[in-house]
Amino acid sequence: MDPAIREANDRMPGYDEARIAPRALATEAVHAGRDDLARQGLHAPPIDLSTTYPSYDSRGEAARIDAFATTGAEPDGPPVYGRLGNPTVARFETALARLEGTEAAVAFASGMAALSAVLLVRASMGLRHVVAVRPLYGCSDHLLTAGLLGSEVTWTDPAGIEEALRPDTGLVMVESPANPTLAELDLRAVAHACGSVPLLADNTFATPVLQRPAEQGARLVLHSATKYLGGHGDVMAGVVACDEEFAGRLRQVRFATGGVLHPLAGYLLLRGLSTLPVRVRAASATAAELAGRLAADPRVARVHYPRIGGAMIAFEVHGDPHEVIACVDLITPAVSLGSVDTLIQHPASISHRIVDADDRRGAGVSDRLLRMSVGLEDVEDLWADLDAALERAQGATAGHGAPAAAVGH
Ligand SMILES: *Cc1c(COP(=O)(O)O)cnc(C)c1O
Repeated sequence: MDPAIREANDRMPGYDEARIAPRALATEAVHAGRDDLARQGLHAPPIDLSTTYPSYDSRGEAARIDAFATTGAEPDGPPVYGRLGNPTVARFETALARLEGTEAAVAFASGMAALSAVLLVRASMGLRHVVAVRPLYGCSDHLLTAGLLGSEVTWTDPAGIEEALRPDTGLVMVESPANPTLAELDLRAVAHACGSVPLLADNTFATPVLQRPAEQGARLVLHSATKYLGGHGDVMAGVVACDEEFAGRLRQVRFATGGVLHPLAGYLLLRGLSTLPVRVRAASATAAELAGRLAADPRVARVHYPRIGGAMIAFEVHGDPHEVIACVDLITPAVSLGSVDTLIQHPASISHRIVDADDRRGAGVSDRLLRMSVGLEDVEDLWADLDAALERAQGATAGHGAPAAAVGH
């Protein structure tokens, strides 16, 4: 049985103690964040676009604002102002927390806004040092390397994490499977090496369908919700799933810095979650088949496909990778991932362009690497398109008489 399918059918951790039996992930995906709807006589969740909420009780509002300033807990009672929290966005947060098996989740305007909030929480506590393992998503790498938020980063490999920790280390950051090489690491071992320092695992590629990092010891689980959680290439969002204490600090930073998620985006994300297990399973089955065909193909030098499965494939071609991008027809040549349609891109040119070339290559992102996000199309149609593009790329290299090793920049 496909490990993705087995995992998806597993019972969820019983977070809600009032519930008699924990529900399966597929059930939570459809029902979490919507538990109150039927009793209100509603089916689709309402979209609350209010920026402000009238109240004749300013003493009560003062008390709610004081409570928020102390703990960052979601205000009890009526909402106050859109930057403090929004009921539609809160439904998505509740649902994602349920899927990741955490107490809470805090949503932001993008994945980068979510990561920024985590760094600001730690920096505000005087913990500016970050230990991180490459590769990370290009802009995450850039944010840390450039120290844009005043952080200082030590790059290491998983075995070097413990040694890299300092008294002012506020965060350890990893991705598994990593963008774009799909390198995997043992999250449980990494979490152990972190000791009391919070481990942030970017779970964008695996999604909670394939892997729940909090169960393995990660205190913070980050998503670019722009990708699989939204799932249709039409929402930008980020979210951090974590314990309630850290969530409170994230809400306070979100309130103070303003990287809030729009309620319409919250609605679309909640809708996206309901099909997440089905989408991830279907696309993973197609990706596994394509990865097998690519691995057996003489025009392909190397294929990276994660042990845990998933809908992402990275591969290196003997021909010119730019020609593959130029020649796809059904497959869309575009950055990003996790949509219903298949996307392909050249990380050294786009998603990881902002990373210094030596750092990028050192992290295993070769100039020949292509990254493909497999969608929900028919596998034979996808293979026909890839096959034709590989043929053109092979021909282009041969036509120029260039040895394969000379391709790239
Ligand atoms: C895209 C991506 C991000 C950044 O998310 P945005 O929503 O684009 O801000 C972070 N991590 C990973 C792994 C990503 O793929």
